[in-house]
Amino acid sequence: HPAPASSLLQNLNPEQLSAVTLPAGNALILAGAGSGKTRVLTTRIAWLLQTGQVSAGGILAVTFTNKAAKEMMARLGAMLPVNVRGMWIGTFHGLCNRFLRAHWKLAGLPSTFQILDTQDQLSAIKRLMKQFNVDEERFPAKQTQWFIAGAKEDGLRPRDIEARSEDDRKKVELYQLYEEQCQREGVVDFGELMLRSYELLRDNDPVREHYQRRFRHILIDEFQDTNRLQYAWLKMLAGNTVEGRFVPGDTSVLAVGDDDQSIYAFRGARVGNMADFVREFEVAHQIKLEQNYRSYSNILDSANTLISHNKKRLGKNLRTDQGPGEPVRVYESVSDFAEAQWMVEEMRQLARDGIERKEMAVLYRSNAQSRVIETALFNAAVPYRVYGGLRFFERAEIKHALAYLRLLENKDDDTSFLRIVNFPPRGIGARSIEQLQDAARAAGRSLHDAVNAVGGKAGANLSSFVAKIDVLREQTQGLSLREIIELVLQHSGLIEHYRSEREGADRIENLEELVNAAESFVTQEGFGRDAVAMPVDELRQSPASQGLDPNRPVIDEPLAPDAETGETMSPLAAFLTHAALESGDNQAQAGQDAVQLMTVHAAKGLEFDCVFITGLEEGLFPHENSMSDYESLEEERRLMYVAITRARQRLYLSHSQTRMLHGQTRYNTKSRFFEELPESALKWLTPRNQGFTPSAFGYGGGYASTRGGGYGSKEVFASPPVPPQKAAPSHGLRSGMQVFHNKFGEGTVMALEGSGEDARAQINFPRHGVKWLALSVAKLTPV
Ligand code: ATP
Ligand code: MG
Repeated sequence: HPAPASSLLQNLNPEQLSAVTLPAGNALILAGAGSGKTRVLTTRIAWLLQTGQVSAGGILAVTFTNKAAKEMMARLGAMLPVNVRGMWIGTFHGLCNRFLRAHWKLAGLPSTFQILDTQDQLSAIKRLMKQFNVDEERFPAKQTQWFIAGAKEDGLRPRDIEARSEDDRKKVELYQLYEEQCQREGVVDFGELMLRSYELLRDNDPVREHYQRRFRHILIDEFQDTNRLQYAWLKMLAGNTVEGRFVPGDTSVLAVGDDDQSIYAFRGARVGNMADFVREFEVAHQIKLEQNYRSYSNILDSANTLISHNKKRLGKNLRTDQGPGEPVRVYESVSDFAEAQWMVEEMRQLARDGIERKEMAVLYRSNAQSRVIETALFNAAVPYRVYGGLRFFERAEIKHALAYLRLLENKDDDTSFLRIVNFPPRGIGARSIEQLQDAARAAGRSLHDAVNAVGGKAGANLSSFVAKIDVLREQTQGLSLREIIELVLQHSGLIEHYRSEREGADRIENLEELVNAAESFVTQEGFGRDAVAMPVDELRQSPASQGLDPNRPVIDEPLAPDAETGETMSPLAAFLTHAALESGDNQAQAGQDAVQLMTVHAAKGLEFDCVFITGLEEGLFPHENSMSDYESLEEERRLMYVAITRARQRLYLSHSQTRMLHGQTRYNTKSRFFEELPESALKWLTPRNQGFTPSAFGYGGGYASTRGGGYGSKEVFASPPVPPQKAAPSHGLRSGMQVFHNKFGEGTVMALEGSGEDARAQINFPRHGVKWLALSVAKLTPV
């Protein structure tokens, strides 16, 4: 090779070298995690360019995420003096967008076409269904969306779908109408980007031939997770179908993948594309990479042993020259809360050992798990960043639920009013809302108070919304925070609404997680204690506010009870404050050294020095929906394989005896995956097979034993579980009791929360209204 190129090839092993320098032709690299697949792909592009075999414009490279595309461009830019922008490197969607921008006219789009994200798409479908008076009960918008997205993934237009039932016919008709609406408005959804590109290549010979000539080399990473349409798109670019048979062209395609890391079957990924590729593209070179450069052998052995339990595999080996390294540490906690505390402690130790925070990752199976971890990190003032999802309190469904709660607390909160006045949809249109806003403005009142000013049907709808809120406010008096939230979730129609959505299950999980958040806010943090205990100065220094918007309001009104009357915030108000505070910018800024939080799915292709895999429990990981059939279980195991192989130096696995999930306490047994790991690579930080009988103590007991600090590690186990019965309240109050207060007079106890120092009572004073009083301060006498 010419001299400059050889420096590119210096740090490659023989197999990698032969892959990078393959002659023209189609090839498949099938290799395990951390074997340098992505590195080979990037280096091959650089080598092709540097040896003059292709110009930058002749390259098409597909990555799985935008992040990976950016990284690849940055690396190429560093290796070569080349204009990386000239190269087509991106995700399938990104590349199709670029293609359609270049050929908008031929694609039948306006030059300014806009892209609809999933949320926009749903609103568009809803609008359409309303316009055509489609019964939303019978055809929920989310289902329609699902139907349309699925059809597009399979490359089908309405005319291609054979409707077998009356319902099917209706769905196809909606698909047709939706297409017309999008076309009229000049918008395309994600599926359309891909399908429209494919069709343009298929139907326009000159365009197809142009790109077939242009792209000399097509390189695709994470090939195991491509879907049917993506594979068909590739075939359009890299060959021709003659009399129904695919004939590969002059373009060289390099597909890179790992069947053991196929984890997107639920989104239409088809691992069979690999076998089809080898056959249809007449692959001449198949290369295996067996040397892992990422992980120490304890980690790698764990991954290898685990995945060997899958039957359906193409078969690969992985070895490493690095020594055993640290053992894989396994921790069993009594609660998810204790698990998070332990993790924070370990992170402190890792930081002392000189490991940067951005080299620590916490991986979990489902998004709902992140909240407890976020709270622990936040309380410990550890900057963190959540990937592939919004922070818990910023998620749309959570914001909707909080808006209902806020309106209960304060009917004049117009922002919350607007957020939910027509959510879930209740036939209140934009025009009615405008009308209401005008009326409110004219009368100088809140939206809530101005509804009577709007007449007609619109006014009636608005009034019934307001009535609903007012009734909810009445109904929630005297209820515990948990009960309030549960009632609101049901009666607002949010749960029902999300039940009909494609991604609704995840949202419902999150809503249920909100109940947990409230529960632990009350029981562990002595509701509002974190806010009380943390003076304003410290709040200012918390990661939330460090270096961020100086105008961001900091709560300067502590939640401590009024010294004279004992009056304090209601648990609901305190919780809402907590949520608002947490949803500030307590996520570390980009570039800041922060712990990385993400789902296992989002971690694909990434690597970190230290990885924590949390919640390794039956029903969670493997997920309960996947435990009944063998195929799904194998996908879960691949997911676990992906998780383990993200770690370079240290790997931690944890599971918890109890966990608040989906609004209830679960007593989980540890994941079967522990039985599938090599004992020699593990170190149990807590006694293995720790006896645990769910009846031995309740959830509250589990928490009680971890309360008040000392989350260190083994202390948690040293202290015996506390029995489930709550200690008898020392204040002697019961709800329904009549009491007397020096300032507010006589009243009725409606609810009690907390215990000891944190005990509070909700009391209805006929003269002064409903108040929350801190029992350690308020002087109450039974009457
Ligand atoms: P995954 O399956 O997780 O996507 P991968 O096969 O794409 O992994 P890479 O991310 O390309 O693997 O490489 C893993 C790590 O090993 C990277 O840090 C990479 O820089 C390093 N690496 C790869 N090949 C070599 C080599 N020959 N010498 C030294 N380090 C290497
Ligand atoms: Mg990779």
